[in-house]
Amino acid sequence: KVVCVTGANGFIATWLVKVLLQRGYTVRASVRDPCNPKKTDHLRNLDGAEERLHLFKADLLEEGSFDEIVDGCDCVFHTASPFVNDSDPVDPQAELIDPAVKGTLNVLASCKKSSFVGKVIITSSLAAVVVDGKPKPPNFTYDETFFSDPQFCEQIKMWYVLSKTLAEQAAWKFSKENDINIITINPAMVIGPLLQPTLNTSSAAILKLIDGTPAFPNVTIGWVDVRDVVMAHVLAFESPSANGRYCLNEEVAHFSDIVKIIREMYPHLKLADKCADDKPFPPYYQVSKEKAKALGVEFRPLKTSIKDTIESLREKGFVT
Ligand code: NDP
Repeated sequence: KVVCVTGANGFIATWLVKVLLQRGYTVRASVRDPCNPKKTDHLRNLDGAEERLHLFKADLLEEGSFDEIVDGCDCVFHTASPFVNDSDPVDPQAELIDPAVKGTLNVLASCKKSSFVGKVIITSSLAAVVVDGKPKPPNFTYDETFFSDPQFCEQIKMWYVLSKTLAEQAAWKFSKENDINIITINPAMVIGPLLQPTLNTSSAAILKLIDGTPAFPNVTIGWVDVRDVVMAHVLAFESPSANGRYCLNEEVAHFSDIVKIIREMYPHLKLADKCADDKPFPPYYQVSKEKAKALGVEFRPLKTSIKDTIESLREKGFVT
């Protein structure tokens, strides 16, 4: 079978390509710059790549860019979307929202145009689920029925969260209007070993706790392992009964909890040891694992994911 992965050089997508090749699929992988070795060598070196990996150039904002790639595929995994910290973008519309929303619609439009009859698995985010600004009781449990509120995201300037929420909403609308079978995967903050040579945003969140940065963010957030996220993508494609959205979260933890876990494992590391502000810690919440577990997803313990992230950051030379 032939599958397509958009944004194939990214942190999650590289793992996805690796597992798809391992499972015998032929993979058409889209990247923005196929001539840049930093963006492609790690893909070309994966087992099975020489025989079954085909690289294509495509850009989220270029109409028709994905036509040739998706044509005749059994499944399209749409992972490409910019993931940067909310404080970073100068122009959130151009840097985050347009590539997320127009990019998703662009990929879906290519699927509609082609002889494509398979599934589209979209990497959305738990960010598109849990940010609605409504007061909740302590330890409230979110599940796949919740959607973040775009107006609230805009109010509090959570541009990345807004981009993912609008992109997912646009995808569901397009799917209903055009009878295209989509499934969304909604992971929490994804960590675990890196296969790519560059530093992605969620791995950087762990690196910042051990690289001499004095303070940790005052944020309570869900965490999940990249290998489990990738299995969810694959199972969503392979299982005929998979449908709708899948929230993926092993554990919700405040950054102070992450620091504590790291300190227990690496007592000699110099860690970020104070909170970035003196506001109360945001409350903990739960995310239902029921639907993901029924699909066959298993969750590695958070401690294992943190350890494997740190080992990998060290191996790749990000920790000095
Ligand atoms: P990476 O930054 O590692 O990968 C992002 C990919 O998207 C890269 O291939 C990047 O290409 C591509 N991309 C970004 N902007 C554009 C654009 N304008 N045109 C074409 N391609 C573009 O991120 P992750 O692997 O972490 O994220 C992958 C997906 O998972 C995203 O959709 C993200 O929102 C989602 N996600 C990630 C989570 C996490 O914690 N990591 C949590 C929940 C969801 P290039 O390298 O050329 O910039």
